[in-house]
Amino acid sequence: MTIKEIGIIGSGQMGGGIAHVSALAGFKVKLLDINNELLHKATNLIDKNLIRQVSKGKITKEQSDSALNRIDTTLQYNDLSNCDLVVEAATENEETKVKIFQDLCKVISNDCIIATNTSSISITRLASSTDRPEKFIGMHFMNPVPIMELVELIRGIATNNETFIKIQNLTVSLGKKSAVSEDFPAFIVNRILLPMINEAVYTLYEGVGSVEAIDTSMRLGANHPMGPLQLADFIGLDTCLAVMQVLYEGLADSKYRPCPLLVKYVEAGWLGKKTNKGFYDYSQEVPKPTR
Ligand code: NAD
Repeated sequence: MTIKEIGIIGSGQMGGGIAHVSALAGFKVKLLDINNELLHKATNLIDKNLIRQVSKGKITKEQSDSALNRIDTTLQYNDLSNCDLVVEAATENEETKVKIFQDLCKVISNDCIIATNTSSISITRLASSTDRPEKFIGMHFMNPVPIMELVELIRGIATNNETFIKIQNLTVSLGKKSAVSEDFPAFIVNRILLPMINEAVYTLYEGVGSVEAIDTSMRLGANHPMGPLQLADFIGLDTCLAVMQVLYEGLADSKYRPCPLLVKYVEAGWLGKKTNKGFYDYSQEVPKPTR
């Protein structure tokens, strides 16, 4: 069975991006979220990003139009019944994801593969909440999906070879490159990246430097394209905290303790770019540090 139709659950930064690249690569897409407003916001953003690619000469207007036409939105799991693959890209919360898989397994065909875009949660554990652990895999896209080339592929203990090969081939069809990670908390990229971001938040918390000083230091001193606090805002501070919690609990090592200041920002609802405020305030044209 070849993959023709892809369901995507969660239409946030990642789900929207995965829908964008899938539709552009010629797949039919069904994008599901919890309300129409979110779905509308997602398709508007996909439209805007496709138009930007047209204006940069990366794709043609026809490619952009037909990609957009290939995306349907829905609130109903039943609409995913013809999908050959469903990629779960909902909020980084294990309970939420498990509930989604339970609802999903009731409607999809026996052949349908389930992939999760989780940044950190055990693939084996998530797979065991489905009726098909052998057809379950971690497919960890990077943000922003249309631009970043990597997809980490993570097998759960039961993932079969056929599923792995199909998803590896799909990754190539989407114009991406894959790297394989074992099923350890936060996999490879976030195991390395998130402790650095958490350390940057500690550096701010302890008053070693201001938001601007920390980001400038890492941009100009370590040649990072983006400072760690700007990157944290970009990822979403709720996602950053969730990943640190999984590392802290999963590896039982105090070096992964989430910084209390990161916890405070999340408690305040300052989640970064997606809420217009995090380590920077994005309400003006030029983002202003919040500390
Ligand atoms: P987001 O907050 O932008 O979007 C999450 C979406 O999931 C929201 O639209 C929300 O309404 C939806 N959702 C929540 N519960 C749902 C449910 N029960 N059914 C359907 N939809 C539901 O978050 P995001 O940044 O897109 O992250 C999504 C996933 O991708 C997470 O697992 C995250 O860890 C992972 N991820 C994030 C990044 C990143 O840089 N942000 C990178 C790679 C992977």
